[in-house]
Amino acid sequence: AKYLGVIRSQLTALSEMVERILTMSREEREDFTLRRERILLAGMLGALAEKFRMQAAKPARVTVDVSPEGLTAFADRFHLSHALDNLVDNALKYSGEEVHIRISAGRDGGRVVLRVADDGIGIPEKDLPRICERFYRVDKDRSRNSGGTGLGLAIVKHLVRRYNGEMEIRSKVNEGTNITIRLP
Ligand code: ATP
Ligand code: MG
Repeated sequence: AKYLGVIRSQLTALSEMVERILTMSREEREDFTLRRERILLAGMLGALAEKFRMQAAKPARVTVDVSPEGLTAFADRFHLSHALDNLVDNALKYSGEEVHIRISAGRDGGRVVLRVADDGIGIPEKDLPRICERFYRVDKDRSRNSGGTGLGLAIVKHLVRRYNGEMEIRSKVNEGTNITIRLP
């Protein structure tokens, strides 16, 4: 049972890696088209929070704040939720024994501001400039057990760029990480 457990978790990590690499290469293709559809953010973020509450293997408080309540984004539903999924996945993985994750959406002039904030382990300042590079991971020993590939943020950054949006990362070791996406 023990070895089957190990095999199962390695297989899961592997299929996640394959999926991410495929997404990445698909998104890099020139002819790749992003749909633009109205997305009710409260619904999307609420579903995302619920998913992570259920799959978390540690005490995780996941809160959602959308203001104004009926706020919508104009983007591709599949890709936007995949990007936010990557951010919440990180917030959950790179934290201590328990974590509080705040997912929020708001408006800034004509732009939609999406934010995922956590009170996890944080990212050292020296790593911040490279954190969105493909396969870049902080402190391999510390993050080895989390089974990541280092592609999540690269994919998010790529997608945000495709929408002419901006991505901002703020982080402090032992205090937490705050990732903000602004979309036109
Ligand atoms: P993947 O997302 O492909 O499974 P990954 O999580 O390692 O793998 P990224 O999501 O690109 O890759 O993140 C890169 C690195 O940035 C991570 O390995 C981790 O060291 C650091 N990191 C990302 N998000 C956070 C966070 N919220 N708190 C602390 N460190 C983070
Ligand atoms: Mg990740």
